[in-house]
Amino acid sequence: MEQKTQSAEPVEARCKCGRPVRHGQRNCSVCHAGAEKRRRLRLKYGVDRVQRALDHLTIHNPATEAAFNSKSSTKAVVICGQDGAPEIAGFVVGFLPEQMLKVLDDDGQVHVVPIASIQPDLGRTIYGRINQTELHTQDPS
Ligand SMILES: [Zn+2]
Repeated sequence: MEQKTQSAEPVEARCKCGRPVRHGQRNCSVCHAGAEKRRRLRLKYGVDRVQRALDHLTIHNPATEAAFNSKSSTKAVVICGQDGAPEIAGFVVGFLPEQMLKVLDDDGQVHVVPIASIQPDLGRTIYGRINQTELHTQDPS
């Protein structure tokens, strides 16, 4: 009987800050909002850190990008073969570790090549020639 009386009149629970708690919870809405904000920030910065590490491994390696920028002023490049003759024209889409580049060619294929094997396609001469050929083949007249 005594226990029933106690449960019928529950003591109003207080948060550690002194405000009344949320219904069925252990903290107030203000403290809950603060805790949620801190949780989101931890999550956000954790994701950012992983994303940055991934970028450094896949598309944005700072050392490779600096080496590339010292060699070429444009992302339009030509991949040269063993004899130094141009083989494939494309655009640099990624800077990998160890001086490697991701180059997207006009067929949509991605080539991973060392910086040493590319030359800048100044004026996009080779790429432009390929695109003009495609335009002429699409033109019905
Ligand atoms: Zn509180």
